[in-house]
Amino acid sequence: MTAPAHQPSPMMIQYLGLKAGVPDCLLFYRMGDFYELFFADAAAAAATLDIALTARGEHDGKPIPMCGVPVHSHEVYLQRLIKGGHRVAIAEQIEDPKAAKARGGKSVVARAIVRIVTPGTLTEAALLDARASNWLAAVAPGAPKAGAGVGLAWCDVSTGVFRTLTCTADGLAAELARIGATEVIAPEGWHEVPATPRPAHDFDSAGGEARLKAQFGVATLDGFGRFTRPELAAAGALLAYLDTTGAGRVPLLLPPQPAPTEGWMAIDAATRASLELTRSVGGSRTGSLLDCIDLTVTGSGGRLLADDLAGPLTDPAAVNARLDAVGWFVEEGIARTRAREALKACPDIERALSRLALGRGGPRDLANIRDGLALATALKTALVAHGQLGLPPLIEATLAGIGAHGNDIDRLRTALVAEPPIETAKGGYIAPRYDAALDELRGTGADGRRLVAALESRLRASTGVATLRIRHNNVLGYHIEVAARAADPLMRAESGFTHRQTLAGVVRFGSPELHDLGIRISQAGDHALAAEAAHFEELREGLLARASVISGTAQALARLDVCSGLAEIAGRDGWVRPIVDDSCAFLIEAGRHPVVDAATRAARQPFVANDCDLSEDRRLWLVTGPNMAGKSTFLRQNALLAVLAQAGAWVPARSAHIGIVDRLFSRVGASDDLAAGRSTFMVEMVETAAILSQSTRSSLVILDEVGRGTSTYDGLAIAWAVLEAVHDKLGCRCLFATHYHELTRLSERLKGLALATVRVREWQGELVFLHEVVPGAADRSYGLAVARLAGLPAPVIARAKEVLGRLEAQRDKTGGLAAALTDLPLFAAAPAPPPRDGLRDALAGVAPDTLSPRAALDLIYELKRLAGE
Ligand code: ATP
Repeated sequence: MTAPAHQPSPMMIQYLGLKAGVPDCLLFYRMGDFYELFFADAAAAAATLDIALTARGEHDGKPIPMCGVPVHSHEVYLQRLIKGGHRVAIAEQIEDPKAAKARGGKSVVARAIVRIVTPGTLTEAALLDARASNWLAAVAPGAPKAGAGVGLAWCDVSTGVFRTLTCTADGLAAELARIGATEVIAPEGWHEVPATPRPAHDFDSAGGEARLKAQFGVATLDGFGRFTRPELAAAGALLAYLDTTGAGRVPLLLPPQPAPTEGWMAIDAATRASLELTRSVGGSRTGSLLDCIDLTVTGSGGRLLADDLAGPLTDPAAVNARLDAVGWFVEEGIARTRAREALKACPDIERALSRLALGRGGPRDLANIRDGLALATALKTALVAHGQLGLPPLIEATLAGIGAHGNDIDRLRTALVAEPPIETAKGGYIAPRYDAALDELRGTGADGRRLVAALESRLRASTGVATLRIRHNNVLGYHIEVAARAADPLMRAESGFTHRQTLAGVVRFGSPELHDLGIRISQAGDHALAAEAAHFEELREGLLARASVISGTAQALARLDVCSGLAEIAGRDGWVRPIVDDSCAFLIEAGRHPVVDAATRAARQPFVANDCDLSEDRRLWLVTGPNMAGKSTFLRQNALLAVLAQAGAWVPARSAHIGIVDRLFSRVGASDDLAAGRSTFMVEMVETAAILSQSTRSSLVILDEVGRGTSTYDGLAIAWAVLEAVHDKLGCRCLFATHYHELTRLSERLKGLALATVRVREWQGELVFLHEVVPGAADRSYGLAVARLAGLPAPVIARAKEVLGRLEAQRDKTGGLAAALTDLPLFAAAPAPPPRDGLRDALAGVAPDTLSPRAALDLIYELKRLAGE
């Protein structure tokens, strides 16, 4: 790569040409056994990977920064770069280096970009979390004038699942939060959500429709469902992106399914985050609700459970179908154990199929599908037999989805060895007796190797060199090797050997007979490899032709895994089946927070179960109590019970009756969103505003310390007004925790407000937390006692006590804040009736159908007069 400053080397020209096509990616440029990176790419990669940055040659008079990763272990590096927020383009050598050499001169081996690796397009098992879906989503904003809504399309290329949806611009963030995509693409210049920008023309709905038809080889999409134009635009952009990143190789996708816009509990991104449904606050799965209840034993089961939890249902019939299915597995312990054992042994069929479709699969993937289908068939037979007395409809339908795979299983069983290698490269995966011609080639190879062994003993005898060996390597092929001190007799011309190489201590020779044998063996080997590869291709195509039936089986297994896993936790921890119906009930007896319960149990501490009754006349609970008493835990626990129940899981409680929650809101604790330029208080208010504008009577709202982020009076005033609005206007079920004890006075006026407090006991000057939620109000927050527990220095505590004493004395003198508030007519008075309006009154008296044209005209004059015009 050394060249005069003005004239880059041919290789550099090739490199720069490739790089120009992928300016937003790090370019992995294949050179022999390494992928090399140059210039800024090298600096960025070296920093992320913490590897050495070197230099090579010159470009424009400066050394070229460079670093490299070995091809055989590149996946690890790839993973770290993708996690570090990079995209990586892979340029491979696409011709044999010998061909380039034959062209002579300074010819460079031809290279091409064969793939762009992005977070949403991974398929490698090593780079994916087996228990999480890897969604890639496309957002197509509809034409504003048409009011068409926003189109969403999302797919998981590692499983082929492909869905679309239309939502309102306001609902987009919540939908994206539900999907939880690893990567989102959107037209360039559109900045509503963080996304990878793509050319706007990719998001054309007519083009999208054409792409979809071509991808699935159909003349009309009607067979898949009805798609809106924004959905077609988004789906088309998704396919275009997959085409670009796969360099023309689009992964196996199942036909797109338009997802219903309704039928899900609406949960916005802030609520999801605060309730830690599928990710904990830190962003990992550990510590989330999902992590706590996931006893599934397969990757696809784990992925389905994550989807279920992210999108709880709102149709009581659908919820009850799931609850029945879990219930069957709770009752039928033997069937449950049987199913879980079978599933545990079951390979990930979906991901194996997707790798095969992308040309990244190997014989092990074929075997995984073979074994998975066989296990599925056996499990189906066992469960059908077990359910002779009747199965719940969901299990029956799921078992029907397993289909019949006898032919595929038989073929794969005869074609493949029991445990084939991951890669095709070395062969040895097609079973003996599957193909007579292949067996013969293998026989020739084996014969050849036997003849080599025989030749070796003969040569030892004839030369008298006992240490003579016949060896093989990639450079010399088969050759004879003797120790240097025994080499002399073989060096003589009449010996019949040709000298090939002298190394320290050994000398290597060739012989005509060995040469012929070598050619015979290697040809037989090449032909055998080619024959195996042809069989692999045929088997692969056979499976891909039945991809949708096989995927259906995989999804059925996932559903069985989810139901039996939820039954396992219900049986193990004594969870109950909730009653879920269309009412507005929310009646929990002895409910527990699943995650805190598990954590306290692990620490051998008891968890205190608590009741919660949000019936009509007590639908709004005002929860007061000391710091650390367990208010937040109680609030979240009830929200989580609703999520669990509507996702179809049994719940940690003695009993639970939950009327369908259409929207769930949780505003818990304070959090900054400084990146988006919003302070703690601003975030709190934006979220509270969303709750007040979007809740309905069927919603469940959790508000924890609203108003905490500002001054005491401002905060109290806001909390007061919000509480009134929730009670009077929304009428939803709500739990409201606060340290503003003044708010408890509202219970005298608001009929649906109930007071609850979390008990503590003071014992020998120490606070004992009882974590017990009881009716009533707390008298104070014990903030200083908690601060002392937290280790605030004694002098600070002492000073705080003094200040508190003075403040309290002042308050008692003036009658206190609460007294002032109740005195305010604004809070005590009922809302004033609207002022009288003559125009309205006049209109109310008009019966349009009885008016003559003349009278109508007179009326218009009269109305204008009343309006003062
Ligand atoms: P603050 O007002 O300071 O935010 P809080 O009242 O909201 O406090 P939580 O954060 O809910 O208190 O709970 C504090 C701790 O108490 C929890 O981390 C948990 O370990 C424990 N805890 C809460 N509820 C229970 C319970 N029902 N049983 C046992 N331990 C509990």
